[in-house]
Amino acid sequence: MNEPGATRIGFLIVVISGPSGSGKTTIVSRLERESPVPLIKSISATTRPRRENEVDGQDYYFLAPDEFERRRNSGEFLEYAEVHRTGYWYGTLKSEVDRARGAGGWALLEIDVEGALNVMNEYSDALTIFVTTPSEKEFEQRLRDRGTEDEQVIQRRLETARSELKFADRYRHTVINDQLDRAVGEIIDIISQEAGECC
Ligand code: 5GP
Repeated sequence: MNEPGATRIGFLIVVISGPSGSGKTTIVSRLERESPVPLIKSISATTRPRRENEVDGQDYYFLAPDEFERRRNSGEFLEYAEVHRTGYWYGTLKSEVDRARGAGGWALLEIDVEGALNVMNEYSDALTIFVTTPSEKEFEQRLRDRGTEDEQVIQRRLETARSELKFADRYRHTVINDQLDRAVGEIIDIISQEAGECC
């Protein structure tokens, strides 16, 4: 993966996954600001409808299903998956990884387990981190506190989380988000160590 001379430091793909309610989105935005190696967050494409507070091209590229399919067929995705059995597709565009590389940072992908497993197959040196909560009870509470989803969606996400947890050991690191600052610090240590070894 490393291309000497292409960037000031070697290039890596960083993958963060974890159940919704694990706090991974907050962690990701902290990492964008605080990481010792610049992390450029990949903007995913999705067929899910845009939420009121979301901006196209900033939070996601919101694509019509046929446009998503067209891009998938022409090989524009690094990975893609139907997430949470909602019928909606999500995927990482290769152009997003190129954008990060071009900017001299590492690409940061916040994606589900299925997508992450596909990335691992293609990029064995990807830095993969699974973020989780100390207990399922706490995790369910966080989902409810968010207040953005109805009961059916919460139940489906809990179910997804239980099945995703089984894949935690496929990741190179598992970080328990028991306390936000501590968890962010732990991931920053992982990144620093990786930068020392690879670059
Ligand atoms: P939401 O619809 O709440 O924004 O995201 C739902 C889930 O989609 C999150 O758990 C997130 O990890 C996953 N996701 C977001 N972007 C991608 C992507 O590009 N690929 C895959 N495989 N999953 C994604």
